[in-house]
Amino acid sequence: MIRRLIKKVFGKPARPAASGPRIIPLGSHGIRREHINPCALKTTRALSEAGYSAFVVGGAVRDLLLGLEPKDFDVATNATPEQVRQVFRRSRLIGRRFQIVHVYCGSETIEVTTYRAAAPEKEAEREAEEDDDTRVAAADGMLLRDNVFGSQEEDAERRDFTVNALYYDPDKEEVWEWHGGVEDAKKKVLRIIGDPNQRFREDPVRMLRAARFAAKLDFHIDPATRAPIAELASMLERIPSARLFDEMMKLLLSGHAERGVRQLRAEGLHHGILPMLDTILDHPERQKFLHVALHDTDERVRHGHSASPAFMLASLLWFDMQAAWARNRSRGQSDQPALYDAMDDVLERQRDLLAFPRRFDGTIKEIWSLQPRFEQRSGARPFRLLSHPRFRAGYDFLLIRAKGGDAAQELADWWTRFPDASDSEREAMLIKPQPGESKSKRRKRGPRKTADGEAAIEVKLG
Ligand code: ATP
Ligand code: MG
Repeated sequence: MIRRLIKKVFGKPARPAASGPRIIPLGSHGIRREHINPCALKTTRALSEAGYSAFVVGGAVRDLLLGLEPKDFDVATNATPEQVRQVFRRSRLIGRRFQIVHVYCGSETIEVTTYRAAAPEKEAEREAEEDDDTRVAAADGMLLRDNVFGSQEEDAERRDFTVNALYYDPDKEEVWEWHGGVEDAKKKVLRIIGDPNQRFREDPVRMLRAARFAAKLDFHIDPATRAPIAELASMLERIPSARLFDEMMKLLLSGHAERGVRQLRAEGLHHGILPMLDTILDHPERQKFLHVALHDTDERVRHGHSASPAFMLASLLWFDMQAAWARNRSRGQSDQPALYDAMDDVLERQRDLLAFPRRFDGTIKEIWSLQPRFEQRSGARPFRLLSHPRFRAGYDFLLIRAKGGDAAQELADWWTRFPDASDSEREAMLIKPQPGESKSKRRKRGPRKTADGEAAIEVKLG
């Protein structure tokens, strides 16, 4: 009755599929109800009790099928956003272009999406219209056109890859598929739904997603899916920079950055988005550093630690910044102004290419500007550095530099020991000025001035 009403209101009868979905029973896929997050379970149950169809969908089903732990659980339903709102007291309508509902249980949130029909020509149009941030507002006017509700079959068709178009019914413990995703998951194949050329043109970000999923899932990209990528890679230039940045960060902070970057290079996708990779890859010593930085970030993420975009950007741009700093000094600028100008230059130049938000600049600069201060191991300076609020990030960066061959391992080890050493041990560790070495002479040799502008205080010991 309610379903008939929905069909009537939206004029979109859930037309029966020519062949219907392939329904896979528990025995063949092994995903049990208990594997589903309780909040998602509560959501699908309440929706089906209200007479709607509701499935767990997308990444969660894919990951469970592969024995991975899902990042989040999304629900897809034939109830409209307004109807979903009526079922859940604790829920909120969000989204501008395509409305979705956030359902809350405790501190958890489940994203509920109404089955959506593909509107390929609209998607291409929309991407073109959103060329820059000032024009995003124009997309508001497309809200209604974009909110085209559809059947589950149509919803499956507009999703990107076959393994991302799986629907799990927690009630019956069945997986419904329309495009052979279960078989592809078994074969570890990433295959786009529909015509690859057309689907990548509709939304070029899908090319980046292909690289990301192939890396994350350890899949290989189906040859037909892969074929048009090299030719279409330059279409990424049209993508609004904020979206590109988000997608890149997903790749770099996914715990599979090393493989992800390799995949990007293999597909020729990195030129437009991470041009700094080009300069890194031209130099063997930079490659080693990049390898260490990505590997280290992956390890952190896999052990449940945080990895920050600022830290990643600081790593990717470190060599460019150092080169700019050296250039400024060779032109006669003194250390500190040379460093500050170099940091600004490099960040601005990169922003033209991969516009990353300015909110990261402060942290990136702090991480960089702490590096020369690690070299100062006499007097009161190491103590002041220890109490710097970014000491930890700066130290982590120093460790990567040491592993990557850009700083002395001895220096990194010294800073590993110093914080936990006793007073007398610390005193013994401090480097004593060489006899006969004057302050001014010392200043000429190492990185001398503190980068944050504090007065350089030399305390003579012994
Ligand atoms: P992750 O584990 O990284 O979150 P995910 O598959 O859940 O992977 P999301 O970006 O969260 O990826 O998107 C959720 C689902 O929405 C995808 O599984 C896919 O079905 C669909 N989707 C997302 N982005 C696109 C896109 N650009 N084109 C088509 N479908 C998309
Ligand atoms: Mg997801």
